[in-house]
Amino acid sequence: MCGIIGYLGNGIAQAPLIDGLRRLEYRGYDSAGVAFHEGSEFSMARETGRVKNLAESVQKQSSNASLGIAHTRWATHGAVTVSNTHPHVSHDGKFVMVHNGVIENFTVLKRFLSGKGIDFESETDSEVLCNLIAFHYSELPEGEERFMDAVRQALPQCRGAYGIAVLCLDYPDTMIGARRGSPLVVGLGDDANFIASDASAFVGRAKEAVFLNDGELAVLQGNDFRITTLEGQEA
Ligand code: GLU
Repeated sequence: MCGIIGYLGNGIAQAPLIDGLRRLEYRGYDSAGVAFHEGSEFSMARETGRVKNLAESVQKQSSNASLGIAHTRWATHGAVTVSNTHPHVSHDGKFVMVHNGVIENFTVLKRFLSGKGIDFESETDSEVLCNLIAFHYSELPEGEERFMDAVRQALPQCRGAYGIAVLCLDYPDTMIGARRGSPLVVGLGDDANFIASDASAFVGRAKEAVFLNDGELAVLQGNDFRITTLEGQEA
């Protein structure tokens, strides 16, 4: 189990993400991390131990970003270290991702990606999925749906369970979530929308919760959201 939360809105993401992690801490307390989309780069903070350690370090480097994702980890693959703490960044720096679950065939996928010259910084199964998305993205032509298509192509290659939230540097107003076997819910508010493992993470900030079914993908873009199957059909 792990807890994930993502924020996309008109306000500043930092406080809602850290508050959300505090509410999700029951799902994992090995380490916690956050990543913000700052326009031309991601800024990150990751700490082992409780969410309060992360909250202290985030306070110091304070971000004004209005798009971000965060995670509280219960380690399944890899020790409790900062490099194994989510969010994970793809080798090319284009994607950042948080994951709840276990990618059972990550060794095979990692070997495939290593053969393409991709290096890894952690021992986690999660970093492999992040890089798999980056790999598909690099193979796709430019276009509005390139980010969504990369996620749609990567997920069917994974065996096991996932609830993910992922950001792409080229899409400063977009967050994608998807689930199979791990819970995921979209929260809709007046000023912001959310993706989280549990609706308690955005209580008081969202008015409506939309629960994803297994095999569905949520695309939050600006003030809009849509839910499709992995094949791209409206759900
Ligand atoms: N497998 C991932 C890790 O070990 C996520 C853990 C989980 O969701 O429990 O970092």
